[in-house]
Amino acid sequence: MKFVAATNNSHKLAEMRRILERMGHTVVSQSEAGVHIEPDETGATFSENAVIKARAICGACGLPTVADDSGLCVDALDGAPGVYSARYAGVHGDDGANNQKLLRELDGVEAARRGAKFVSAVCVCLPDGAHEVYLGECPGSIGFDERGTNGFGYDPLFIPTDVGAGAACVPNTEGRTYAQLSADEKDAISHRARALAKLEQDLPRFLAHNA
Ligand code: IMP
Repeated sequence: MKFVAATNNSHKLAEMRRILERMGHTVVSQSEAGVHIEPDETGATFSENAVIKARAICGACGLPTVADDSGLCVDALDGAPGVYSARYAGVHGDDGANNQKLLRELDGVEAARRGAKFVSAVCVCLPDGAHEVYLGECPGSIGFDERGTNGFGYDPLFIPTDVGAGAACVPNTEGRTYAQLSADEKDAISHRARALAKLEQDLPRFLAHNA
C-alpha cells in the first residue's frame, strides 16, 4: 500500500520508510506529496498528536497517511519530557540541547532510578477521515553520558533493556544505547517499529472495516 509519511523530521522519515518498505509498502514523504504544513501539536498525549498530524496531512494531500508522534518518558522526571520531547530545551528539534538538559535534570540520580521508556503513537488515516492509532513502547534507562553516533534525538542517551530480534532478543548487558545500534538492530526493538508492526497486523481489518 502507498502511504504518505506525515513528518518533516528526516530521521523519523528514514525510519518509517525503511520499516514500512520492509513490510512491502511504498512511502512518500509529505514534502514529496506537495504538503509543506507543520500542524500544531496541541494534544495532551502522543495519540492525540498523532491523530492531529495524520488528519491534517491526509486532508491536505488526499492520500492514505501515517503519522508518528513519539517521545521519551523518564520515570524520575514523572514522565517528562513526554509529548514535549522535541522541544524540551526550548527550541524545537535541538537534539544536542535536549540531551544536555536531560543530563542536567538527572544529575545526581543513581543508575537504579534512571528508568525510562520511548513511546510511539502511530496513526493511519484514510481520505474519508477514518483513522486508527497504534502504540509501541521500548523500555530502558538513561545513561550518564552520550554514546554512539547513529540515529537521532535522545538515541545517544537511551539504553534499551533488551536488544536483538525475536528469539535472539536478549538483555542488553553491554549497555549499548540506541545510537550504538545498527538500523536493523534499532528496528528490531524500537518503539516506532513496534507501533508500526501493530498497524501492519491490523491493516487488513482496518481497511475492510472502512471499505
Ligand atoms: P515529535 O515530532 O513531536 O513526535 O517529536 C519526537 C521527538 O521525540 C524527537 O524530536 C526526539 O527528540 C524524540 N524521539 C522520538 N523518537 C525518537 C527516537 O527513535 N530516537 C531518539 N529520539 C526520539
